[in-house]
Amino acid sequence: MQTALADFIRDTPEGREADAILRKCVHCGFCTATCPTYLLLGDENDGPRGRIYLMKQALEGKEITDRTRLHLDRCLTCRACETTCPSGVQYGRLLDIGRKLVEEKTARPAWERIKRRVLAAVLPCGFLFAPLLALGRLARPFLPARLAQTIPASVARAGAWPTPRHARKMLALAGCVQPSLAPGINAAAARVLDRIGISLVEAKGAGCCGALRFHIGYQEDGLADIRALIDRWWPTIERGGVEAIVMTASGCGAMVKEYAHLLRNDPAYAGKAEKISAMTRDISEVIDTECARLESLPVKKGGRIAFHPPCTLQHGQNIKGVTERVLARAGFELTPVPDSHLCCGSAGTYSILQPELSAQLKRNKLSALASGEPEEILTANIGCLAHLQSGTERPVRHWITALEERLN
Ligand code: SF4
Ligand code: SF4
Repeated sequence: MQTALADFIRDTPEGREADAILRKCVHCGFCTATCPTYLLLGDENDGPRGRIYLMKQALEGKEITDRTRLHLDRCLTCRACETTCPSGVQYGRLLDIGRKLVEEKTARPAWERIKRRVLAAVLPCGFLFAPLLALGRLARPFLPARLAQTIPASVARAGAWPTPRHARKMLALAGCVQPSLAPGINAAAARVLDRIGISLVEAKGAGCCGALRFHIGYQEDGLADIRALIDRWWPTIERGGVEAIVMTASGCGAMVKEYAHLLRNDPAYAGKAEKISAMTRDISEVIDTECARLESLPVKKGGRIAFHPPCTLQHGQNIKGVTERVLARAGFELTPVPDSHLCCGSAGTYSILQPELSAQLKRNKLSALASGEPEEILTANIGCLAHLQSGTERPVRHWITALEERLN
């Protein structure tokens, strides 16, 4: 489409990038068919094509209103539109630029600002989130049902982390909320990799990947989190001690793979960010490559499962069918899941900031996952896991913990 970006942004790196993305869009509307918010609300402005047009207007200097912000807020950043688009429009990158501009040019009501500030302060900090979660668990019986269901009643123990003993080593990201909500995920990944000859290690003090603050309206704070994480990882990477960085949360994986792009204009970090993005693998990619070694181990067969591929895995990282292949090779029976390309409504802090839309998406997703009557639901991202578990009695867990159980 034709563009005429306003003077204030035209010659900036963001302006040039946004212009190139906008010019690729031919306004065909194929993307609307796979947009979860368009499917729920039926409003052009709650679909990708409408949002692209709203961002174009904002970048061209037209008036930016609270309605503009509302339609961008309702976007899940699931990027299903991106993997549908035949013209290669990088909607997610345009949204980062558009949201930053809209955030600067409009004023949110005080309560909304406070809510976002609190989420951005608490969630990425394990030392704040862990005690608050423990308090929440104590208070759970006295909380309204809707709030209580978002707090897990118990957390399974992590189990032992194997002592590093192999020449092959990989680095894992502990993450921010995952160690409190499901500490067993990384430990299970470490035990599975240990059995196929790879030692998984974590860098001390390496926490949030930056996605949380970046996507909630504090992009500079998110970039500061990214630089802090790179600083924690860099000594290990520089020594050449690890062959890959392994992600057990697909949301973090999608973000870390974007580091090269996000820090491309920062001379102090661009080279490091590029190397880190190139080294990053989702745990499914690692296990898939090493599957032959896994198959030489005794594996129990059976078990009907439904797999929910998080948007950050299938659209953000464009990894489709890999986890399903690994699970099938490990002897799981995968039930069919209709509309598996659609978001479950978790989407970072979306479930807190857009509770009605999120709850509807969760109900739809759980009904699709339950349609094949699986014994349990497996997924690949802590956010989706906690969100889905809050709406069903059926067990929901990370697929690597289920795979580990098969090997025992
Ligand atoms: S983003 Fe892609 S699919 Fe959507 S309207 Fe533009 S060109 Fe068409
Ligand atoms: S990112 Fe997801 S919710 Fe947002 S416009 Fe694209 S498909 Fe719709």
